[in-house]
Amino acid sequence: MTGTTLRIDEAAWRTSLDRVRDATPGLVPVAKGNGYGFGLPRLAAEATRLGADTIAVGTPGELDAVADRFPGTIVVLTPWPGAPADDPRIVPTISRLDELRRLAASDNRPRALVEVATSMRRHGLAPAELADAAPLIDRLDFAGWTIHLPIGDTSAEAVDLARTATAARPAPLWFSHVGADRVARIGAELGVETRLRLGTGLWLADPSAYRATSTVLDVHRVRRGERAGYRQRKVPGDGWVVVVSGGTANGIGLEAPTAATTLRQRLTAVAGGGLAATGRALSPFELDGRKRWFLEPPHMQSSLIFLPAGSAPPAIGDEVPVTVRMTTYLPDATAA
Ligand SMILES: *Cc1c(COP(=O)(O)O)cnc(C)c1O
Repeated sequence: MTGTTLRIDEAAWRTSLDRVRDATPGLVPVAKGNGYGFGLPRLAAEATRLGADTIAVGTPGELDAVADRFPGTIVVLTPWPGAPADDPRIVPTISRLDELRRLAASDNRPRALVEVATSMRRHGLAPAELADAAPLIDRLDFAGWTIHLPIGDTSAEAVDLARTATAARPAPLWFSHVGADRVARIGAELGVETRLRLGTGLWLADPSAYRATSTVLDVHRVRRGERAGYRQRKVPGDGWVVVVSGGTANGIGLEAPTAATTLRQRLTAVAGGGLAATGRALSPFELDGRKRWFLEPPHMQSSLIFLPAGSAPPAIGDEVPVTVRMTTYLPDATAA
């Protein structure tokens, strides 16, 4: 291995996926973006193994990455103006009346979900538009109402919008970011089927089932005051400059590796060039037992890390832990 690698304990990962599936009636696995670090094709294959009848991608451009590994229905979460009306496997999300009118004008009875606007203020029909939408929806093979809520305690809003939508037209309700129990209760109360879209809560349910590692590519002994790196910055003391695989192209050093605000601020500063201003930023790479400072902002596929004298320097080829944010991480490889 020379790149940055996502090591997956497949048995443990699958155990966690099975557990979430068993606890989530109506589960719709979400496979979008960087595939939560695992990649879209792998998520599509796991959704198949889980027995899901439906998967959700984020954008139309992601359809090809999942279509040949998942045999069921594919929902596209992002509103898709001009969505095709003739592919029964693909279910677009409609979020505006003009788009709904266009699809309703087709003689194919196209499948579609219709999004209801929430306090997210992102996409969707306003509750006041739902009555106008109902007769148009009758011309569709309507998959249901979709309600995408902000993260947090949104149960009151969920019930409210669910009531309004099903009053306009009874149909399955698709939720995100609402607890499975809550969703089941809303469905029972309103007498409709419910679906729950899960990404993070499914794929990343057991963080002990996977870990990111980088490879030590080179190790250079340095003395205080010597210069190194693109920016020819002076090293802060005696020690080593350690070159590790993993950089901006892997999503490393761009985002907080944890939710800790101070760390986030520090690492965000790296991406913004703040390193030059502040002098240093803590890297997500662990050498000799702890996270070490970047010598300069991460390069595209590798990073220069300063390891102070008194530490045990790594050997070339060693694999070292790296803390990544799984929604931005693009490993060069996955392995057991
Ligand atoms: C991305 C997305 C999800 C999944 O979000 P997670 O927080 O990763 O579970 C669910 N619903 C919609 C509409 C989304 O866009």
